[in-house]
Amino acid sequence: MFINYAVGTQNENIIFGFGDKNIDFQTKNTKARFDLLKQIRLNYHIQAQNCFNIAELNQVHGNTVISVEEQGANKFSEKIIDADGIFTSMKHYLLCIKTADCVPLLFYDKILGTIGAVHCGWRGLYNDILLNSVNMLKSYYNANIENVAVVICPGICKNCYTVKKDLYEKFINKVPTYKNYYRTKHTAAGNDDCTPSYRHKLHKLNADDCSSEYLFDLKGLIKYVLLASGFRKENIHDMNLCTCENENYFSYRKNKTASRFVSFIGKL
Ligand SMILES: [Zn+2]
Repeated sequence: MFINYAVGTQNENIIFGFGDKNIDFQTKNTKARFDLLKQIRLNYHIQAQNCFNIAELNQVHGNTVISVEEQGANKFSEKIIDADGIFTSMKHYLLCIKTADCVPLLFYDKILGTIGAVHCGWRGLYNDILLNSVNMLKSYYNANIENVAVVICPGICKNCYTVKKDLYEKFINKVPTYKNYYRTKHTAAGNDDCTPSYRHKLHKLNADDCSSEYLFDLKGLIKYVLLASGFRKENIHDMNLCTCENENYFSYRKNKTASRFVSFIGKL
């Protein structure tokens, strides 16, 4: 059910992990929130009934990152804010991200104890949610990014994420080297957009320029951006789980489902 990590600095414990299809964390499923907390108490042998307040967001595929402290911790639980990333250094807040193919990222500052959870699909990545997360860690929480660990929770993999040409172009127009995270998708024989004759017809010599479909390595590009932002390679932990291929997780691409599984991090 959960990745069984309870890591900590000298004086505090961090728990983090992700659920599966047994807990459908889609909005308004209050039983799922109750079940999650119950599972966490069992899993980590926590006696206290009220060990965590669930801190979740109304995820909008945007680039807004918030801090529990900045929002006002007491008021925070009364409203659900439109945002896609959340950070705190406070105990007893369980930061939750719900996904079905987009990539959930969990952050943990090993020195200062700040934690974060971010929802990163192509829109968030394109609009610099990772940059905003780094800025939040640095400017609000005084983090040295070299000390921050990241867990890449289950999300769609580079062999399953088919996208159209316009998305490929959008990304390479932003940063040309992002091209390295796209591969042309070769369809069945005879129906290949990149056959030499088709390329000739389009007066395009480069196969990349005429393909209509691409495979996008979203997690690969996330890692590239994290490394470029100062994260150390050994602090980036990819669970290597694909939501499209692994039946334990919800996949929007595969099933057009409204269901979501949860990824979480909290301090005890
Ligand atoms: Zn896959």
